[in-house]
Amino acid sequence: MNWSPVTVKTLSLLSLLGRGLETAVLPNACVFCGTRCRPGEAPICKDCHADLPWIENACGRCASPVEAVLPSGVHCSRCQANPPPFDATIAPLGYRFPVDAAIKAMKFRRKLCYVSAFTHLLAKSMQRLPGEIDALLPVPLHWVRHATRGFNQAAELCRPLSTLTGLPLIRNVMRTRATPYQSGLVARHRQGNLRSAFSVRAALHADHVLIVDDVVTTGETCRELAQVLLDAGVEKVSVLAVARA
Ligand SMILES: [Zn+2]
Ligand SMILES: [Zn+2]
Repeated sequence: MNWSPVTVKTLSLLSLLGRGLETAVLPNACVFCGTRCRPGEAPICKDCHADLPWIENACGRCASPVEAVLPSGVHCSRCQANPPPFDATIAPLGYRFPVDAAIKAMKFRRKLCYVSAFTHLLAKSMQRLPGEIDALLPVPLHWVRHATRGFNQAAELCRPLSTLTGLPLIRNVMRTRATPYQSGLVARHRQGNLRSAFSVRAALHADHVLIVDDVVTTGETCRELAQVLLDAGVEKVSVLAVARA
């Protein structure tokens, strides 16, 4: 079928309208159980919030769960053996039920109600990051994946976070290569899979950049992206995600 520019424009408008309605008409109910939450508050009720799979002890550098609290400045064995180019990572939740299901619903079925819930969690977690942040960078999606999925979940999380924090969004970093999904690759192939996947298109006016994503899986995407930022003159990179796989 040939899509005329008018048809494409109409479909985009309808899709935007649908997204607006989904977030505007629904009352502020808990995204996990439907309990009414107070207007303006995070749409997660107290009980569901307490039951979320919070990661108790994590490496401050890569957010990997660790057995016990690490002394300040000490990182996990993986970070010690192969230090990542970013300084700190916060990913407060384990990628387990119901967080995994919620992230998949947000990403693949466009359930944008979770965006609001996760943005509140991210804004709160962000306060634990050391140092002043200058700008937010949602992990870029290759345009082909953006076109097929319809939106970038990292950008969806970043936009309200930018409004809440007043921090600017970086938009001139591109994903230059469409990479297969990380989860479908064996570990030894992951690093090669990401090599040269990102490029900076214009000068970055920020000393400390915060990379934002929904899930940190192996950390390789953030390593690659952080290195590209440092090569472009950024002084310090931190990472913020909803969950750590
Ligand atoms: Zn609930
Ligand atoms: Zn670590």
